[in-house]
Amino acid sequence: MQTIDIYTTPQCGFCKALKAKLDEKKIAYTSHDVTANEKELADMRTLSGGAMSVPVTVLNKGAEDQQVLLGYPDAVKALKLEEKEASKDEQKDTATLTCPKCGHKQKGEIPTTSCVPFYICGGCGETIKAQGEDCCVFCSYADKQCPLKKKDGDCSSGACKI
Ligand SMILES: [Zn+2]
Repeated sequence: MQTIDIYTTPQCGFCKALKAKLDEKKIAYTSHDVTANEKELADMRTLSGGAMSVPVTVLNKGAEDQQVLLGYPDAVKALKLEEKEASKDEQKDTATLTCPKCGHKQKGEIPTTSCVPFYICGGCGETIKAQGEDCCVFCSYADKQCPLKKKDGDCSSGACKI
């Protein structure tokens, strides 16, 4: 039987949408909150080859036919959750992130079909997490907000939706 492991954060709108689709179809999965402990984040990065954005979906984890799906559209497609194909990352936007620890500024790409709850600062090397209820580091530290926040106005109220 196929197993499904999803690496998520509680604030990620794409993760919520993916899980809602699985729930709707009564498909069982195991959810891993990468903000809950360092091990889950480390596992996600190992499995995905270093991805810092969620959701990361792993089919048949540890088996010979293990498959790792990055972001929302690929997971939806592989799990056949939607009739029509979900749109892929189109025009990725870039923003400047300012490290809250050392003030180092760096450019980051804002994905449109996944959520970036962490990044590694190029200045101090710290793993910087999104603040509080923010869904991603762009909401917390960038000069531009993520597309979900732009669309709904506020992600802190749980309004992040696709
Ligand atoms: Zn820094």
